[in-house]
Amino acid sequence: MTRTPMIDETACIGCNACVEVCPEVFVLNESLGWAMVMFPDGAPEEQIQAAMDICPVHCITWVE
Ligand code: SF4
Repeated sequence: MTRTPMIDETACIGCNACVEVCPEVFVLNESLGWAMVMFPDGAPEEQIQAAMDICPVHCITWVE
């Protein structure tokens, strides 16, 4: 895999949608109130993309 998902923590509203779609990669940090990329290689790109697409504030992006 050549690209990695990244979350803009300042935009994340902690809705947990990305975690529900792709718990192998994203984890909600409940004390901070935003999601984090825990295992960037944890799921196929299509599944990560699905998590990006469902994010209501579109704060998950690919980084090469
Ligand atoms: S879907 Fe977007 S806003 Fe919701 S927790 Fe994940 S990164 Fe944050």
